[in-house]
Amino acid sequence: MKMFFIFALATATISPAFSAEKAAPENVRAIMDERLAPKPVKTEYFEGAFNLSKSSKVSVETPDPLAEAQRQTVIRTFEAYWGFAPSVSFAENPELSKMKPEGYRLEVSVGGMKISARDFDGARHALKTARQLAETGRDGDGYYIQACKISDFPALAFRAVHLCIYPETTPAELEKRVRLAAYYKFNYVVLEPWGTFPFESHPELSFFNKAFSRSELRRIVDLAYSLGITPIPQLTVLGHASGGTNEGGKHAILTRNPKMAELLEPHGWSWCMSNPRAVKLLEEAVAEMHEFFGNPPFFHIGCDEAYDMATCYKCRSRPVGKLLASHIIHFRDFLKKRGARAIMWHDMLVEEGDPRWDKCTANGHAGTGMGEIYKELPKDIVIADWEYDERGPLPEGKKPYPTSAFFKENGFDTLCCPYYKVSNIKNASAAARENSLFGMMATTWSRTMGSTGRVLFYTSANAAWGSDPSKYSNSWKDYRCNYNTHMRTMDIDSGIEKYEDLGTTPNVGVVRHLNQPL
Ligand SMILES: [Zn+2]
Repeated sequence: MKMFFIFALATATISPAFSAEKAAPENVRAIMDERLAPKPVKTEYFEGAFNLSKSSKVSVETPDPLAEAQRQTVIRTFEAYWGFAPSVSFAENPELSKMKPEGYRLEVSVGGMKISARDFDGARHALKTARQLAETGRDGDGYYIQACKISDFPALAFRAVHLCIYPETTPAELEKRVRLAAYYKFNYVVLEPWGTFPFESHPELSFFNKAFSRSELRRIVDLAYSLGITPIPQLTVLGHASGGTNEGGKHAILTRNPKMAELLEPHGWSWCMSNPRAVKLLEEAVAEMHEFFGNPPFFHIGCDEAYDMATCYKCRSRPVGKLLASHIIHFRDFLKKRGARAIMWHDMLVEEGDPRWDKCTANGHAGTGMGEIYKELPKDIVIADWEYDERGPLPEGKKPYPTSAFFKENGFDTLCCPYYKVSNIKNASAAARENSLFGMMATTWSRTMGSTGRVLFYTSANAAWGSDPSKYSNSWKDYRCNYNTHMRTMDIDSGIEKYEDLGTTPNVGVVRHLNQPL
């Protein structure tokens, strides 16, 4: 008991006087910074390391007291990350209300670890950073964290990664992506089933025998919430009605229900906006998905690449722009009544060939008035501007993402949505920050199944957080040191036992060896 009091007194009186600490040498600073994703705003490292063990003491300070459930989550997070929880004390510090939302400070000295956070999310981010820095004790004595002082906060309030649930996607793979998104400090994950949602109201909307089971998807939705990331469902109410890609020609609905063709345009790619039965079916499907996802504050209604929209004999006799505007407003109103804001892709709202958009994506039919309907749309619709080809450096004086700037200037919350090219992703982040946009949504499509996954997640996480672009995704080492480690960490968290569940990226070296003549 006496020993305990001496220890408690010693740790309680430690005030990390970092100015007196000796800075860690350059190689140590480089090793530590390499481990982190996304890169924090400011890192300082000092000599010595903190031994995190069951008997350690850790303090967590916030401006307002954390609720009991939040405190328990912090303690459970220690257990999940390190297999044990140290003694955690919670305190209030009103000064921390000056921090940016989700901001945190992580101070680690040889004698203690202290987390100062703006809010509960900030405290959770600090723990993720600590986990990325921590290394296993060489002598079976818990974990070691290099002495440091890290100040951090996100540049963008809305940081999403968009994930497709294809018939080929396995529950294990989807779980890993959701876990990784949370670990990389995204705060939203948009989940778009492609003919795979387990509808009770309309099972005919999913492919033969390829709907996820409700329990599998429920588990992943619940997991997202528990990790502090809000899942947003997506169902397109215009184009992409097939549930398959253009290339594959597969159709989730029409192949086995050809009579449903009356709900779609003659090519089968877009829903018919003139058919009230199509609108009713979509309403029921949207409502079921929204409820299944726990009625989150956003719902993505797609609306991109509707090449064949309004081509049936009923639609084509009406003004296309007006028809599209009323269709979008209908679903915006429908979701508003459910307490959610609609997110939609931007491309049908800007007309092809308009010189203002330069090389940006614009799929609105030229001369139809589609480029003017933004004036009629309620401003609470979130515009998701997907641009995959714009690459830096941009010519001097040219605004990155002119389409994003346009929607922002016209009063819309706007998201920059890049894809798999590093420069494209870094440009999206710069555009979102420089134009004070709502945020960024990284898209991934089918490239999660391959080596580009590292760019999609690692580069996008840094970009969405607003990390200094000179500090990430500049070398192979950057990925090899981080992404693989973090992927493996997610596999451990998932409790994966089968090789197949480690993902669909093959061990390429083995495949090449087998295919090549000796
Ligand atoms: Zn039609």
